[in-house]
Order: sequence, then structure tokens, then C-alpha cells
Amino acid sequence: MRKYSRLCLVGTDTDAGKTIVTAALARAAWRLGGNPLALKPVQTGCARESSGRLRAPDCAVYREACPEAESSSLILLKDACSPHLAARRANLELSASELAGVIDTRISASKTDLALIEGAGGLLTPLNETENLLDVFALVNAPFILVAANKLGMINHALLSLNLLRARGLPVLGFILTWTGREGDSDLDRRIRDDNVETLSRMSGLPCLAKLPFIRELQSLDLLVRERGWEQSTQLLMRSPLMDMLFREGASADDKLPQQLHGDDLLRFDREHVWHPYTSAVSPTAAREAVKTEGARITLRDGTSLVDGMASWWCAVHGYRQPARMRALHEQSARMPHVMFGGLTHEPAVSLARRLLQMVPQNLERVFFSDSGSVAVEVAVKMAVQYQRASGWPERSRIMTVRGGYHGDTLGAMSVCDPETGMHADFSGILPRQIFAPRPACRFDADFDPGTVAAFEELLKRHAGEVAAVILEPVVQGAGGMWMYHPEYLRRVSRLCKEHGCLLILDEIATGFGRTGRMFAYEWAGVEPDILCLGKALTGGVMSLAATLASKEVAEGISCNGGVLMHGPTFMANPLACAVAAASLDLLSQSGWRQDVARIEHALRQGLEPCGDLPGVADVRVLGAIGVLEMRRPVAVEKVQDYFVRQCGVWIRPFDRLLYVMPPYVIPDEDLERLTAAMRGALEEKQWE
Ligand code: PMP
Repeated sequence: MRKYSRLCLVGTDTDAGKTIVTAALARAAWRLGGNPLALKPVQTGCARESSGRLRAPDCAVYREACPEAESSSLILLKDACSPHLAARRANLELSASELAGVIDTRISASKTDLALIEGAGGLLTPLNETENLLDVFALVNAPFILVAANKLGMINHALLSLNLLRARGLPVLGFILTWTGREGDSDLDRRIRDDNVETLSRMSGLPCLAKLPFIRELQSLDLLVRERGWEQSTQLLMRSPLMDMLFREGASADDKLPQQLHGDDLLRFDREHVWHPYTSAVSPTAAREAVKTEGARITLRDGTSLVDGMASWWCAVHGYRQPARMRALHEQSARMPHVMFGGLTHEPAVSLARRLLQMVPQNLERVFFSDSGSVAVEVAVKMAVQYQRASGWPERSRIMTVRGGYHGDTLGAMSVCDPETGMHADFSGILPRQIFAPRPACRFDADFDPGTVAAFEELLKRHAGEVAAVILEPVVQGAGGMWMYHPEYLRRVSRLCKEHGCLLILDEIATGFGRTGRMFAYEWAGVEPDILCLGKALTGGVMSLAATLASKEVAEGISCNGGVLMHGPTFMANPLACAVAAASLDLLSQSGWRQDVARIEHALRQGLEPCGDLPGVADVRVLGAIGVLEMRRPVAVEKVQDYFVRQCGVWIRPFDRLLYVMPPYVIPDEDLERLTAAMRGALEEKQWE
């Protein structure tokens, strides 16, 4: 019985013997009753046939060894050189995630039970300017077998490749050694080959899965002679430990994982024992099992591929499993996944802090890392209170904000969420009592009405002596109602804070990193906060990380007379999260996010604005990569979500009266169109009530 459904066969170098191993392995698998697929994702050095089509040489080898097996070359390039160069010369742009997607699609389209995916050159063979073949293979979800030519220097090459695979956290089953015929045959040469096997096994801790000696028949021009060569190599493989590893009676790779639940069992356990956000333990709403994410897509257990309209609650701005951040994660995990931040520091945290400070106004110059947005808000509130106390204003200990806001679920953060739509009623008595001005009434896209800030001004004047800080989500109020208000309101609040000696805390946890069309939403108003909260898209959705940035004045104020900031989470500045965040910010600085967000805004306007005329719609709002349909009544969340998943293939999670999307910036146009069409469809077909 088959143990693995996919294998990556990668080599230490070109000419390591991968193609012969792959072809012979396909033949052995077929002989054992399997249904192999031999796959060469990138083939260079393809000859042009008289028909004009390119012919993939390795695929021809697979077919010769095992005509019954399926075989494919996915990207065919004419020039016999590295894929990045061959692609450039053919005016093609290769991308790791796209190629991994093509591999997945090809495997899904076949009837295979064992896909043998062969590398090209070595692991670090370049694919384009920034990615290499390992970036593709890392996304393929399969264990690796390393093929190496057994000659002088092999141990070094093989260990380098194995260490690299391990540093990326990729599973390696073992290695296969080949004889390419160019090795010497003296006593010493033979001794070297024997010692190579032993030493490589010992030093790598991995088994030698097969040895394939030089088979002269395979060099023959005579097809019948070559056939004898294939039979010989197949027999050798069938007698090797490799076969035991791949095909063992009564066992599957899943046997090793008795703890894993699948299908209905998994969903049942989930329903009975796992608590989901804002959900009853007794009658929880349905949860679907996600098994894979890629780009702007989420794949469910039953294979349904959904267009992601939520970017996993704002954070997955670059899409999922994007290679640069995966690489940063694997490389950092190989060095130092975590270390305490008290008394120690590290390069990922310092680099990230430097990058962040380059992006924000100059008055901000201290970064405090924490593990979630809510905690970043707690830290901001504590900073404000400590600052006022240290400055001789101990009675300034309350926070002022506006209605309709949302800042997180911990107690301090909850206390500044909207008192009605938030959770105040459930926690009255325990929450600090804060000061609430009306919601900023003037729309983002309307002419500014100065009257809308009057109530705020009056309230701040009245409470100035007890307000430590004002906290606001700049320009877009997110989970409190997806409301977009005029930047002038923010400008005036900023001015009032200065006049009354209150700090301004801006919560950019949802809006930061490009979502509204500006890198940070406060840029619409040109204001400088005293304290800034960042989170969500900071790592681009790979890990949880947040940061609270403070001005020099706040930092020095708290620290005067020996004062210290009283906060220190265990996972503060987690190196994995910091490394991924730094990679994410690099990506943001190189990517065309501005164009992408503008493109998404345009598509959301085109797709959603016509909904304004449909029955039940109270308002349509679009800003940057955020599109909102506000309904007159609460949305039937489970019903409409079922419609979205089953009928439309999209992932949109409404709440209260809101149907809204904020997709990853990399979402393709046709997927965007699918999102807006689904939202329109839900209204037209009355699937939301
Ligand atoms: N502030 C804002 C503006 C948010 O949108 C959120 C999360 N929705 C938070 C704070 C809390 O962040 P977290 O969920 O990471 O604790």
C-alpha cells in the first residue's frame, strides 16, 4: 500500500542522476500496482520539434522507462541553462507560488496515487530574480528525497543540501546515491564511494534509501538494450529500502499520526470541545475545515477553493504562503524561534523596529512589541496613564474616545469599544468607565461639517483635567461598524488634544499597512499621534505580532526619575514573528501595493455601488481595499455564508448589519469580480435575510 502520495526528488546538482532515479522509480511503482505520475515542473534545454513545439527531454526518459505511467513537464524552456535565465530569454516570468499551484492542479487532474516531482539542477537553482527552486518545492507539501552522485566531494554537497532542507523545516526521508559513470575505479575510488555512504548516513542521521550503480545499457542507442537497462535499475530499486519506505503492506503515512482527526470526527470534536470567537459552547455556529491557503484562496477539506474576501480579518495583505515570508519564518526557526526579551535583544526585533520607525512620523521613536492588537492597545493606555502620572497629572487617568469604535477584547481595550455594540453590558462593573463623544458623523466622502466635532470639543473641555489620552481608529472605524469618517475630524481632534494636554493614541491595527490607500490612515489627515498601535497586517497574516510606538516625549516622560514602563509579555518580540514582519514590510516596500489597493478600490466601487438601489441596503461605502454594504436589518450570517461558500465559492464573513470585504492586495481581478458578484447575488436572491 502507498505511504506517500507525493515525493520531491531533488538533486545536489545538475547531473546527479535525478531523472534516471525518477524514471526507474515510476517504473518500480507501476510494477507494484501503483499509478505513478512523473512530473518535471521546469524543464530547460528543450529541443524544438518540426511542428514548432518544444520537446521535454526528461519527460521522454520517463516515458521510455514506464510508458504506462503518466508523465508531464509543466514549464518548457528552450535554452539549456538555469530556469531564471532560460525564462528571461523566453520573455517569461516564473513565480514560485504560481508554479506550485500549477503542480497542485496537474496532480489533482491526474489519477495518480504517487506523484514523483523532479527538481531541476540543485536546490538553490534560481527561478527568477528573488526565488529559487526550493521556494517552489517548499510549497508542494511533499517529503523530499535527495539524489547525489557518489563521487569525491559528495558528502559536502549532500550535507549542504540536507541542511538547507532542514533549515526550511522540510521533511527529508533520506538519500539515493547514483554512479554516473565518470567516477574512477581504483581501489581508493571504491573506498571513497563506500565511505561516502557510511559517512553521509552518520553525519546526516538519514538513511541511504537506494544505490543505483552506473548502468551502461542506459547509454546505448539501441532501444532494446536500454529497456534491459531500465529493467536492471527497476529491479535494483525494488530491492532497496526505498521500496519498504514507500510501499509497505497495511501501512499508510497517516498511521504515524494517530492523533489526527479527519472529516466528520474532526468537526464533531471541534463542535464539542473547541471554542470559536464570539460563539456559544452549547449551540455553536457551523465551522468549516480549512486545509490549505495559497495566494488569495482558502481550500476547504472537501476541496472547495474559496476566494478570500476577508484577508483573515485584515491581516493577510500579501496573500497566503507567499515565499519571502515563508523563507524568513523557516530560516529564523532554524536559528532561534524564541528567546525572552527581558535582558536580551536580537536582530529580528531591532531590524523590525528600525523599519517601523522609518515608516512613521519622526516624533515616534520607541517601539514596544507585544503579541496581539488588544495587548498593544492595553500598552498604549498604560503608557498614557503612566506618562500623565509621571508628568504630575495623576488625576488624568481616563481615556476619551468616540462611539462606534473597536479596539480589542481585553478589559482595557473593551472599555474604549462602543458601549452599545461593544461588550460593556456583559462586563459592567469591571470595566474602567471611559468618556464617549458621539460617532464622527461626517462621511469620508462628504464636505466636512465643522458642527460634527463640536460635541467632542465640548466634552473634552469638560473632562480635560481627567483625560490621559484620546484613542481613535483613524478615518475607518472597523469592527464597530465599518464607518469611514472625514479626515478633517481627525485633524481637529489632534489639535484639541494638544490644546488640552491629552495624548493622542491612534489605533492603526486594522487600517495600517496600506489598507485605506495610504500606508497609514492618519496620513489622510496629516496628523502625528503621540502613541501608535500596530498589529494585524504587521506580519502579513503569518503570525500574531503587535507593536505600540511612543513619541520621545511620552517615552522620556514615563522614564523620568527612574520610571519604567510596566508591561512585559512572555512572547514579547518573538523572533519568528519579528523576522516574518520584517520580510513582510520589505515586501510592502517593493510591491506595488498602492496600485493594487487602487485597483481593488475601483473594482469594489464598480461592483458594489449599484447595490445601493437594492431593497434592504442602507448604505454602500468603499475606501481603499475595503468595501461595505450596510443593510437595514441584521444579516442572517449562517444562511448567507452558506450561499457564499456553496453557490459562489467565496469566503465572506458578515456581522450584524454588515456585508463587507477587505481582500488580500494580491487578489486577481477575476476573483475580485467574484466577490462583488457574490455580494450582489446575496441581495438579489434574498439570501441575506
Ligand atoms: N484594534 C482594532 C482597530 C482592531 O480592528 C482590532 C481587531 N479586530 C484590535 C484592536 C484587536 O486586535 P487583536 O484581535 O489582535 O487583539
